[in-house]
Amino acid sequence: MNIHELAVTESILKVVLKHAEASNAQKVVSIDLKVGEMRDFVEEWMQWYFDYLSKGTVAEESKINVTKIPVKFQCKECAENFNADVKEKEIYCPCCESKQVELVSGTEFFIESIGVI
Ligand SMILES: [Zn+2]
Repeated sequence: MNIHELAVTESILKVVLKHAEASNAQKVVSIDLKVGEMRDFVEEWMQWYFDYLSKGTVAEESKINVTKIPVKFQCKECAENFNADVKEKEIYCPCCESKQVELVSGTEFFIESIGVI
């Protein structure tokens, strides 16, 4: 069992339970997560850890849906926005070939919505 992954899942469960309590929910049925592609993230373990941690809570058996957010950069020279594969050694602007680029998305990790009944 990976401590980091467990901790991440635990923090999500905390938010979900707080939300369920605040809205007097009987049950949490779904959790929509947005995850940047820079994140080393595997959907399967998230559901697995969640099932494990949520036993006996209102969030038991809820389904986790993950939407990936692509990795995007912006060029500091010409302001071009572009997608990039972070496995590439060097990332440069496809427009002007500058290496002065800035990461603008891809590291996100947040709960977009929580479905309750
Ligand atoms: Zn450029």
